[in-house]
Amino acid sequence: MALPRTLRPIITICGATGVGKSKLAVELALNLAKRFDTHGWKGGVVVNADSMQVYKGFNTITNKIPFGEREGVDHVLMGIKEPTEQYVVGQWVHDATQAINDAHLSKKVPVVVGGTAYYIQHLAFPGRLAVEPEQVTDSLSPPPPTRPPPSDMLLSALSQITPDMRELFDALPEIPPSAAEEPGAALSLYNLLHALDPDVASRWHWRDTRKVLRNLQIMRDTGKRVSDIFKAQSSMTPAPKYDTLCFWLYAEPEELRRRLDIRTDAMLQDNLLDDVRELRSLMLPSKDSSAYFTAGVYQSIGFREFHKYLSDPSPSEKKYQVAVEEMKTANHQYAKRQTSWIRNKLVPAVQASKAAEGGRRAEVYLLDTTEPGEWTSAVRDLAISLMEAFLNCEPLPDPLTLSSAAKTMLSVPERATDPTAVLLARRKIICPVCTKDESQPVMIEQGREWDAHARSKVHKYLLAKCVGNRHVSATGSGTG
Ligand SMILES: [Zn+2]
Repeated sequence: MALPRTLRPIITICGATGVGKSKLAVELALNLAKRFDTHGWKGGVVVNADSMQVYKGFNTITNKIPFGEREGVDHVLMGIKEPTEQYVVGQWVHDATQAINDAHLSKKVPVVVGGTAYYIQHLAFPGRLAVEPEQVTDSLSPPPPTRPPPSDMLLSALSQITPDMRELFDALPEIPPSAAEEPGAALSLYNLLHALDPDVASRWHWRDTRKVLRNLQIMRDTGKRVSDIFKAQSSMTPAPKYDTLCFWLYAEPEELRRRLDIRTDAMLQDNLLDDVRELRSLMLPSKDSSAYFTAGVYQSIGFREFHKYLSDPSPSEKKYQVAVEEMKTANHQYAKRQTSWIRNKLVPAVQASKAAEGGRRAEVYLLDTTEPGEWTSAVRDLAISLMEAFLNCEPLPDPLTLSSAAKTMLSVPERATDPTAVLLARRKIICPVCTKDESQPVMIEQGREWDAHARSKVHKYLLAKCVGNRHVSATGSGTG
């Protein structure tokens, strides 16, 4: 029996780097072009959801699907930004929403694909960004001349800070300072955030200058404290904006690492270093090179590693191999973070949305790509049959029944998805024992990280020394 469709459909494909997302997107779009549908959906448009592939050029380092493999399928939001242009999630959601509207108007099905899972999450489940897409201005255009007046909460917080802090708030830098090069500036921004909004500040380390500055900019631009924005958002369950069929392409970690290493070697064969050289040639000599590591396309994995190698006055084969290994490690870590985001954020959001009113639906299916020989049956054909059932408004199977990997990875304990709970679950605390220099405090996240830290040799050593000192001074047997 067909279910009534209340929302327009989108297909999303997420997953770690190197699992074959771009390939599946093209296969689905080609299949969409061939189908006949009583609802009229025919053809697909690929909407890029990879935060590095939005940049122009640098196709090797950003892993863009080569033109030859796009099979004539339209790819939008790919290669549209200049190398150092800032492009934040709210801007992407704004642009993707327009691209999806355009696709729907021509009865095409948007296939949103990319490794930046939080882009997809904020697109599919709106209402959880501190700055909503409507408020986003192009980073090249001047800031809005009038900003909304500060809320009572922000006003009260502003009235309690020192004049120095107030001056800093009124003239926030546009580019975050480097914590390594300018620890003083970094800590000042952190202290300002802490004074204005302690709940949000304790989520970050003072070295996370990009996040710290971003939170301050949001307060300046919205007139609201970020924790107050989160509190307002937490009072509602996010409902999907579209009828959303989400595919999570998955590979067992060991197999994925093996494939990523092969891909890194292939990228090096494919002149990865030319991309790095070109990026280096665009850098301003007056600017500290580490500032580039958090700017635009310069954040692509491989740039930092080979920039270091190419800057070396005496390069050697051994140093080259070190760079290769560092890039491989960075890829492994990135893949791990991507998988953990999907499992711990996206999947719970899909599950929580089922409680939302209005007959809207979002479903996530894990497709296991671990066996490369089984792509056609375990990935492509399965995805096509699920997509057909979804577009024809037929009932869909239970996602847990598709494979053993699906059963394991999709069975996540129910957890709080509202922003306030997430914020409070990840507080950073200063370790007074390990902090030698007050101007550069040692901060550790509470919970598992803190437990591991408290058991670490260095902490125990310093603690013993500290207790020893106190003992000496307390008993008065010290020489001082
Ligand atoms: Zn410590």
